[in-house]
Amino acid sequence: MFIDSHCHLTSLNRNRRQEVLQEAAQGYRLIDSSIDPNSSLASIALSDHFPFVYTALGFHPFSCDIFSQEIISTYQTLIDEHKGIIAIGEVGLDYKASLGVSVQEDVFSRFIRLAKGRNLPLCIHNRFEGTYVLDILDKFYSNYETVVFHCFSYGVDFLKRIVEGGGNVSFSLNVLRAKEDLRLALLECPLENMLLETDSPYMKIKGQESTPLDIERVYNYVSEIKNISLDELKMGILKNSERIFKF
Ligand SMILES: [Zn+2]
Repeated sequence: MFIDSHCHLTSLNRNRRQEVLQEAAQGYRLIDSSIDPNSSLASIALSDHFPFVYTALGFHPFSCDIFSQEIISTYQTLIDEHKGIIAIGEVGLDYKASLGVSVQEDVFSRFIRLAKGRNLPLCIHNRFEGTYVLDILDKFYSNYETVVFHCFSYGVDFLKRIVEGGGNVSFSLNVLRAKEDLRLALLECPLENMLLETDSPYMKIKGQESTPLDIERVYNYVSEIKNISLDELKMGILKNSERIFKF
């Protein structure tokens, strides 16, 4: 079983998505991450239909300029009505977003409250200086056991803070071309705290769009670099995913 803990099926073109879904029906579980209300509805249409597809209900920091409290109420209703919604995310911080960090933090905090209120794990997008994201999380969480740091791209120090807090780190396709500090973080990360993802189709492979089927490359690379068998890695990631996402 390959588990892609973060992908964007709704961003693939329709034909390619159909091919991927056909192939992924055997031996894959895909967590599709939405970024705004429209992609949330599109994702739910997939997770309602395909038993191996799940939805992480997200609101990307780039979407902050369309935020309204009504979106939270809509998401609450969607969560109550659709079993395939198993997480909140991606939500978080991005220095490239059009609105400043105080607005982003306010929106992020509302989604943290939503996740906590509905007892769902939180998948974080963090492209922001230092450990500011942890300062925000620390206002809400006594540990990071239900938090996933998606597309982890930092070094060992950041990794240790997350792992010491019991948090979960999702390594993406970018580990295949990892710089030394990310490679060291991957080596340091205990299997119990690890998830794997493609962040497809945005994470490119040699200039080409990726798909969730490329998750196999991440598994193979991690198994090799951490010197554990592919079976052991698959079992570990499955166990972690079941613990975090309860599917
Ligand atoms: Zn993403």
